[in-house]
Amino acid sequence: MNIEQIPDNFKRALSISAHPDDSEFSAGGTLAHLAKTGVKVTLVVCTDGGKGGRDVDNITEVRYQEQEAAAALLGIRKVIRLDYPDGELTASDDFRDRLIEIIRQTTPDVIFGHHPQTFYKRHGRMAYMGHSDHRAAGSAMLDAIYPRAGSPNFSPGRGGDPWSPAEVWLFDCEKPDHLVDVSQGFSEKIAALQAHDSQQGAGGGLAEGARRLGHYLGSDSQPAEPFVRLILRR
Ligand SMILES: [Zn+2]
Repeated sequence: MNIEQIPDNFKRALSISAHPDDSEFSAGGTLAHLAKTGVKVTLVVCTDGGKGGRDVDNITEVRYQEQEAAAALLGIRKVIRLDYPDGELTASDDFRDRLIEIIRQTTPDVIFGHHPQTFYKRHGRMAYMGHSDHRAAGSAMLDAIYPRAGSPNFSPGRGGDPWSPAEVWLFDCEKPDHLVDVSQGFSEKIAALQAHDSQQGAGGGLAEGARRLGHYLGSDSQPAEPFVRLILRR
């Protein structure tokens, strides 16, 4: 797969992740690149992150503070917490309605989020298991985008006028079809991942994992992030 440049025609972007750190891990370089070029980026975190990482007192508040710090490092303007219990996310009517509202309020040209069918991903001979919260977040996001957020017949008046993004970029996927150069946002991505201190485990933690993956997909001078890119309108 060729490494492509990130498009320069987006003005507003929305990234919807199940847990604190998911957007940074999968799309942090892309989001930092967009923010640097003047794109207004909003981040949605769907769960409270209460089951992640080490045994830390008051983990949801710790993770919220880490998420705010990480988002600031990426240049993200606003973080919206939905605070569903970690590990229990489903693509419920309530969850979908809240995403419809956010999409209509933020009017993104591009929406980033989890691929809804990822039960596992392979990198070389290794396999990485998918998370049920990620699939639920991806499913609710796609259901919110179409047919709902863009239609006046669904949730009328909620969040404002109907809105449809021009593109959807799915991350966290087994078979990506689009690889982008994130050399302009990679140092910010690594810094943002390091800000999630409660999630760092053995072997260098999140940042080292992302560094290896980015360089594996691209090169030391041109790290890359993979997506499934869906162009809905031009
Ligand atoms: Zn996650």
